[in-house]
Amino acid sequence: MTASTVPMIDPFGRTIDYLRVSVTDRCDFRCTYCMAEDMTFLPKKDLLSLEELDRLCTAFVEKGVRKLRLTGGEPLVRKNIMHLVRELSRHLKSGALEELTLTTNGSQLARFADELADCGVRRLNVSLDTLDPDKFRAITRWGHFGKVMEGLEAAERAGLKVKINAVALKGFNDGEIPEMLRWAHGRGMDMTVIETMPMGEIDADRTDQYLPLSLLRARLENEFTLTDIPFKTGGPARYVEIAETGGRLGFITPMTHNFCESCNRVRLTCTGTLYMCLGQEDAADLRQPLRASEGNELLHAAIDAAIGRKPKGHDFVIDRRTNRPSVSRHMSVTGG
Ligand code: SAM
Ligand code: SF4
Repeated sequence: MTASTVPMIDPFGRTIDYLRVSVTDRCDFRCTYCMAEDMTFLPKKDLLSLEELDRLCTAFVEKGVRKLRLTGGEPLVRKNIMHLVRELSRHLKSGALEELTLTTNGSQLARFADELADCGVRRLNVSLDTLDPDKFRAITRWGHFGKVMEGLEAAERAGLKVKINAVALKGFNDGEIPEMLRWAHGRGMDMTVIETMPMGEIDADRTDQYLPLSLLRARLENEFTLTDIPFKTGGPARYVEIAETGGRLGFITPMTHNFCESCNRVRLTCTGTLYMCLGQEDAADLRQPLRASEGNELLHAAIDAAIGRKPKGHDFVIDRRTNRPSVSRHMSVTGG
């Protein structure tokens, strides 16, 4: 492999060294804020093969990507996904890639945690919005809380560092966040809370779900001592340390505090479409240059052209007048 010495830099001077790959749009859950209950998924024939996904990811690594995250849909429900993880792990071994990681709902972790660790995965983000099994069922529609807990235990045993991601949902889990914090920090896991974003048609009304994290933070301050810290994981979260638990809490605030100025990432879908911004519709087709030749020259040129039109940022809005998603695709297409 010929690793590029020239980093990818977008029109706003931001270095792009992080690729998120949605390896499938399918999922074994139907979280109410993410999907409609009755979803139409892509026909299987439209998906890139695992070999093609490997080639695409490798092209990005050649162009300076240092961190790769597999997401979805649920990445661990894609057939033979561990084949891709194992193939990609060669870039960890060569030193071209600093980190290979996943965002998962945890349902399949009991099966895969050991193998993930064996492939060089060190950290995982596990999405979990509640510790109450009944509420868990209500929010995921199809998920089993017990299986996720087994998955977390398997991840711990395998030595994987887990961060819990919770979407803050008004009237659903806002009252529970203190308990979740104590639970996560008690098990040595960091936690991040996320504002719900207006992506894709869902059955619920997003204005009913949306909770500005500034409000949540103010409420947490009644119970805990929060200290801002400069800790960074290369993402948009701003972290505080909680004196009472000794753990870290991240806030991802796409709605109340736009963090686009430090954006370092692009997102690839399982059909080879590259989204340069989570909150914009513009995209570049990489499948055509991928399939047009066996070498990577066309692909590299298409990636350069795409990075050359990465937009400045998103324009998410959630309010009663704008009763439509800001972008029509669901989060599961790009994986958050
Ligand atoms: N299935 C995996 C999971 O749930 O972790 C990976 C894909 S999921 C789309 C990635 C993250 O996006 C999850 O943490 C989920 O909670 C979050 N998410 C989904 N829809 C969202 C929305 N409309 N606003 C904010 N976060 C959302
Ligand atoms: Fe599936 Fe993740 Fe979306 Fe939930 S948030 S429906 S687990 S893709």
